[in-house]
Amino acid sequence: MAEKNVPSVRTHKIKIKKPFSIEYKQKIVCPYCNNSEDFYEVIENATFLISYIQNADGTLEPIEEEIEVLGPVKFFCGICNADLTQIKKKYKK
Ligand SMILES: [Zn+2]
Repeated sequence: MAEKNVPSVRTHKIKIKKPFSIEYKQKIVCPYCNNSEDFYEVIENATFLISYIQNADGTLEPIEEEIEVLGPVKFFCGICNADLTQIKKKYKK
């Protein structure tokens, strides 16, 4: 028979996952006091644009927030306040 037969062996697509490199997250450690837990970031020259709608009772409700960072973002150790910006950049790739 020349009829179109449904193949007995089901074809199926095999999804091939893109190979990706596993990022090994290295801990940032403060070279001055060995702190690896407490950090803070200072963002300079950031512009916040917040859009509000005013409710009937006069209260303002933020509906949209936009943050534009213009200045440098500095990263500090939370214990000894050392500037770790360069160290963070080194780890962040
Ligand atoms: Zn420190």
